[in-house]
Amino acid sequence: MSETLRVHAPGRVNLIGEHTDYTGGLVFPMAIDRGTTLTYTAADGVIELTSDGAPGALSISLPFDGEPNTVEPHWGSYIAAMSAELGATQGLRGHIVSDIPAGAGLSSSAALECAIGLALGFDGTPLELSQAAQRAEHRATGVPTGIMDQLSIAAGVAGHATLIDCHGLSVTPHVVPDDIDVVVKFIAHRTLEGSEYADRVAECARAEDKIGPLRLATLDDVGRITEDIARRRARHVINENQRVRDFAAALAGGDYVEAGRIMTEGHASLRDDFDVSTPQMDDAVDRLNAIPGVFGTRMTGGGFGGCIVAICQPGALTDGWVVSPSAGARRVH
Ligand code: ADP
Ligand code: MG
Repeated sequence: MSETLRVHAPGRVNLIGEHTDYTGGLVFPMAIDRGTTLTYTAADGVIELTSDGAPGALSISLPFDGEPNTVEPHWGSYIAAMSAELGATQGLRGHIVSDIPAGAGLSSSAALECAIGLALGFDGTPLELSQAAQRAEHRATGVPTGIMDQLSIAAGVAGHATLIDCHGLSVTPHVVPDDIDVVVKFIAHRTLEGSEYADRVAECARAEDKIGPLRLATLDDVGRITEDIARRRARHVINENQRVRDFAAALAGGDYVEAGRIMTEGHASLRDDFDVSTPQMDDAVDRLNAIPGVFGTRMTGGGFGGCIVAICQPGALTDGWVVSPSAGARRVH
């Protein structure tokens, strides 16, 4: 009998820096103490998997050279795409258990990609793992997502959030103080996300056609964009990149009131300039912000549903998950 092995990939919550990664901007996510664990044994030339979190049994032969997005069950698309990216020939038989809600903006898809990548023997750097996983996500879904999810999960650091420069691909760990709670609250499953996400990527590209890379542009430049939608998208991205810098400084300086204010301001920008929130999420953000001890709240993830995240005094929020900053994707011995 071959040895039973295990890999674990955390989910992530993005504290600030939303819809900035695909224009090479700044993001500030943290890997969390919820994740996806794959328990498996080595198998020659096949991947056979089941999951607690999704119906069906996956069986594909290796090397995989089909179209990942036609694989059934559908969740196997991510597995097939990752195995194709890695050119895997040595497979596995196993079972997936996860406590990340799928489709809620906590990156269950990137956790799945990183977990299967490690299980298939990937032995490069966390950055290389995240880049393979991002390409796999593109192949599996056709959605042109940025690098944040995969890189924050591959390169997570216990006790820290990570400031990621999505142009230079540097990852700078920042301590998450233990005298605040980070609380995640699930609001609703996402709707429309795939197509609207691609629309936002295209709208930012239109803005960049006018004023150059948004990561380098200023609010003065934004004034030169005559098209309303592209102008608002650009304004969000430029302000949001600055919010990441300001949030990191406020957190490091222990100014949680300011850090929370920046999060709530970021939510308003996602609602008004980027049009990715929903009335239900806006209500939830307002409700949490009215609770004593809450410093700030925002939607987190791509939007159109999903989760909100708040920072607050310890114990101030009892409805939701208090998440702690965790290590990145890893083999478990
Ligand atoms: P998010 O990454 O925000 O959770 P996505 O829509 O990007 O949302 O990814 C969710 C999809 O990832 C699910 O529909 C499923 O196909 C796949 N997935 C995630 N976690 C699991 C799991 N534990 N088992 C099987 N499939 C999963
Ligand atoms: Mg995802």
